Amino acid sequence: MTTNQKLIIAIDGPAGAGKSTIAARLARKLGYINLESGAMYRGLALKAIRNDISFDDEAALLALAQNSQIRLEPTREGNRVFLDGVDVSQRIREQDVTSAASRVSIHPAVRQWMVARQRELGVGGGVIMEGRDIGTKVFPDAEVKIFLDAHPEVRQERRILQRTETVGQVESQRIAAELQERDLRDRTRVASPLVSAEDAIIIDSSHLSIDEVVDKVEELVRKKLGN
Ligand code: C5P
Repeated sequence: MTTNQKLIIAIDGPAGAGKSTIAARLARKLGYINLESGAMYRGLALKAIRNDISFDDEAALLALAQNSQIRLEPTREGNRVFLDGVDVSQRIREQDVTSAASRVSIHPAVRQWMVARQRELGVGGGVIMEGRDIGTKVFPDAEVKIFLDAHPEVRQERRILQRTETVGQVESQRIAAELQERDLRDRTRVASPLVSAEDAIIIDSSHLSIDEVVDKVEELVRKKLGN
């Protein structure tokens, strides 16, 4: 599909719903760039770990963010992430950073800083951004808003599959517990909790293949573009 009009597409939803995979595939099809906003929170979380900053210290975390350069580089598979010029793409996916990201992201001042950076990335359109608050806060005027969900068991299963090499029985229970904990924190925090925007289209991916979800979203985009 080619068109000169470049939209902003917001994809929100809980962990394991398939947001990054869908965003990357769709970006390839549309010739858009895909941006994983969660990777920015992960980058800051990693820096907090390295600098021994408490995940509860909002002022210190904001100062840390202001003194950091967190850059996303879209690729065919997902985003590469650079923290102060160094590639941390692998490191930020590890468990300690995952858990820390969900803790640093509860602070309003941190969120405000992130949202401002994320908006800069959307200038000019042609962007698919995924996260938790893209349709509600970052781009409330996005032309296409998707809330991608899936049953908790399905999401846990997907996460466990992603880490297939290391997963044993104990490990899979731990992954499931951590996902639940992170979901609860994302949904119940006061600042920008994970909720569907009122005008988002909700897609339940529990029983859909990646291609089926991509097709659905592409159809919505096509309608928006009037072709
Ligand atoms: O999407 P990902 O799992 O990489 O996000 C890591 C964490 O960052 C989430 O658990 C969530 O707490 C936070 N996040 C957020 N708002 C976003 C994206 C991610 O609060 N837009």
